[in-house]
Amino acid sequence: MKIGIVGCGQVGSSSAYACALRGIGSELVLVDKNADLARAQAEDILHATPFAAAMPVSAGNYGDLSGAAIVMIAAGASQKPGETRLDLLKRNADILGGIIPSILKAAPDAILLIASNPVDIMTHMAASIAAEHGVARGRVIGSGTILDTARFRALLAQHLGVSSHSVHAHVLGEHGDSEVLHWSGATVSNLPLADFSKQMERPVTPAFKEEMDEAVRRAAYRIIQGKGATWYGIGAGMARLAESILRDERAVFTCSAYHEKIEGVGPVTLSLPAIVSAKGVEKIFYPQLDDDESAALKRSAEILREAITSIGF
Ligand code: NAD
Repeated sequence: MKIGIVGCGQVGSSSAYACALRGIGSELVLVDKNADLARAQAEDILHATPFAAAMPVSAGNYGDLSGAAIVMIAAGASQKPGETRLDLLKRNADILGGIIPSILKAAPDAILLIASNPVDIMTHMAASIAAEHGVARGRVIGSGTILDTARFRALLAQHLGVSSHSVHAHVLGEHGDSEVLHWSGATVSNLPLADFSKQMERPVTPAFKEEMDEAVRRAAYRIIQGKGATWYGIGAGMARLAESILRDERAVFTCSAYHEKIEGVGPVTLSLPAIVSAKGVEKIFYPQLDDDESAALKRSAEILREAITSIGF
């Protein structure tokens, strides 16, 4: 199955590279307004395929996305040091507003996977534009907090001395400053986090929680300070989402999807656990939250709703 990638900077090329390394899809087509960049990235990734999954990788234009099962969107300006994701809003809304119709003209049946920031607002806008072309909202999926959830799982795993694959701990709401670490629902290998950490003699104290909250929430700022942008984590996450869709796995991700109302606020697009299948987002779950977490989720929804309104959606 063909996967298209629109926007082939750090995030788009890392997503394509992760697909090639893991054998996700059977063909990759890279599109960027900078055609030379798309060509160079495609050629470089193609040269990895003899060491990974053998598949064609090429650069193209929108017409070459024809027949794509998935189109990943990572076009846009990236976050500058000190800039919040919401600051990026207007710049990236203009870019995405222009490219969604071009993608759908060539690949009307594709599921769209969006990484461009601020990703929840971009996904809301893209899904609204796509709906005008008859595309169901569940077929436009934002990466949302899949990356934040991965950061939460990886850091907790490191603290506990266990594989991150055994840690189930979600980040909900906005992919951004108002995101909500769902501590009360965290489990490790089917044990509540508190039990597991006690038995491992690696306690999860209030001070540790605060430190972890900061480490997850501020991860992007720290990485941007050090290397200008973030790309490996999200590239791996985009490839994993694509894998779940192409294999119709029905895996659960905290990806960004449309909600009529969250905590009385809406319509809004944000992350809650959702089944992702060959049809896109199939079913969304509202987890049990404690009072602080549901207040924080409401705040996150309000912030996003306000930003979505500010661009007229
Ligand atoms: P980048 O500047 O390296 O790449 C962006 C690419 O988009 C450039 O190659 C540019 O030429 C291209 N582009 C711009 N306008 C275009 C258009 N109209 N049509 C086609 N291509 C166009 O940036 P990056 O570091 O790859 O980041 C891309 C986006 O991903 C940013 O919005 C960034 O904030 C976001 N991002 C999201 C996450 C996440 O978790 N969702 C993580 C990291 C970055």
